[in-house]
Amino acid sequence: MANVDILVVEDETPIREMLRLVLEQASFTVRTAPDVQSALKALETRLPDLILLDWMLPGISGIDWAEKLRHDTTYSDIPIILLTARGEEEDKVVGLDTGADDYITKPFSPRELIARINAVLRRFGKGGKPVLIQVGGIVLDPEQHRLHIDHKPVELSPTEYRLLEFFITHPDKVYSRTQLLDRVWGRNTYIEERTVDVHIRRLRKILAEFGRDAMIQTVRGFGYRFSTQPH
Ligand code: CA
Repeated sequence: MANVDILVVEDETPIREMLRLVLEQASFTVRTAPDVQSALKALETRLPDLILLDWMLPGISGIDWAEKLRHDTTYSDIPIILLTARGEEEDKVVGLDTGADDYITKPFSPRELIARINAVLRRFGKGGKPVLIQVGGIVLDPEQHRLHIDHKPVELSPTEYRLLEFFITHPDKVYSRTQLLDRVWGRNTYIEERTVDVHIRRLRKILAEFGRDAMIQTVRGFGYRFSTQPH
């Protein structure tokens, strides 16, 4: 794997150091900053491959900075993962167009964090490190884009693969069709929302062969949720 450079912006020292440790153990190159001002200096030195950005920072908040970066052509290509606290922030971030490419709610496991980072890096063609993703007998190999359910290989189109990967790495949360288009098909794609339904239907059909179709739930008037406890 090429050297992947991650900039961590987090004001709380213990969390910042924990993030550094977890990311370094996953072989990422890590730089840290306690606030946006220091983060800007770090950007001037070298552009990172990804920014892990805390929402609540002294001075300019993470969410405001993400928005600014998104509109600055020098920085707009850097993927951003926003760190949020459970509760109100989490609710807000789901409903907002934050300028972030993903968000992760504290507290999170190192495994979840690394899986999210790798998924975002792959979406941006930055070659995240392959780690098998699994939930309840469903196993995804992000490197080979292979799916196994109950140890049986399953054929999947690239779009359905990405959709399933997104769902599995973002379980038990509701996403609108627009959000799914954004996260799975990519920013700035102009595809009809109906396309999402078509791919969901295909994915459900595949999962139905293994009695897993109830994992993809329709949330009327909003969108879809991948449930790890469908019953
Ligand atoms: Ca904070």
